[in-house]
Amino acid sequence: MSYIIGIDLGGTNMVAALAHENGTIIARDRAETMVDSGFTDVVRRMAELVQRLVDGAGISLRQVEGIGMGVPGYLDMTGGIVHFSPNFVGWTEVPLVDEFRKHMPLPVYIVNDVNSHALGEYRFGAGRGAEYIAVLALGTGVGGGLILDGRLYSGSTEGGGELGHIIVDPDGPRCECGCYGCLEAFAKAQAITDRAALKLQQGKRSIIPEMVDGDIRSITPAVVAQAAEAGDETAIEVWNEVGMYVGIAAAGLIQALSPQVIIIGGGIARAGRFLIDPIRRTVEARALLIPASTCRLELSPLGDDAGLLGAISLVIEKR
Ligand SMILES: [Zn+2]
Repeated sequence: MSYIIGIDLGGTNMVAALAHENGTIIARDRAETMVDSGFTDVVRRMAELVQRLVDGAGISLRQVEGIGMGVPGYLDMTGGIVHFSPNFVGWTEVPLVDEFRKHMPLPVYIVNDVNSHALGEYRFGAGRGAEYIAVLALGTGVGGGLILDGRLYSGSTEGGGELGHIIVDPDGPRCECGCYGCLEAFAKAQAITDRAALKLQQGKRSIIPEMVDGDIRSITPAVVAQAAEAGDETAIEVWNEVGMYVGIAAAGLIQALSPQVIIIGGGIARAGRFLIDPIRRTVEARALLIPASTCRLELSPLGDDAGLLGAISLVIEKR
């Protein structure tokens, strides 16, 4: 019996999972990333986390076929190098795979974290059986991933697939990338809570202020989703507007790439039908040349495991 390890390296936590050779997760563990401790220290603690996971399962490292890692940032997958990573200060041209293999001489593969999400959907999630997939991951930011003809697509620069920076409104708010009106500027967590807060400041009636004890700054997308669930018109309006922007991007993706499925994931996808219904309505109204009916629009069934499963599938892909 051989095993696979997947690691989802985040800015706050690192999560590792032990999986059977078919990708079924059987154990998981996590540790704080502590980015400030520096590159070599973070890598050392990744190796310690893997060792703990392996020891806890009563298996030996020799039984591990390989390790896949989902890592935020701009990477050279072939060389195992992180070119740079916005939230990981000092991680410029760092040899992640070589450094990790100093601790554990196993096959190690890396992939951008959102691309990892796309791979997870392709092999284990809403993309199973499809060869053309787009993933939009809505969270702190908006990430994107593309699988085209059964392969991860990142374009001529290896930086492609940044679907969060598709411009959906030229007059929209400024995005962190410097542009105006990117999808991310409308659909990231902060943009959703800002939109809700603005409606409250404009005097719209809502149960949201009551839900947050009057503290508008503590509104989260989860609160806006709960309010929508309770029938709150203002909250539903927020989701309708956010869904419209996501739908505009999705309609563009359908015209450009004709995917079989577009998958909406990330923490914000927990808003469920309040998010996906307006996306579907917008796509139906705006995808015409290649009609909306040619593409499924689905919420990610994998939830928080999508990235881990993608990291695991990296090892499977290398067989
Ligand atoms: Zn942008």
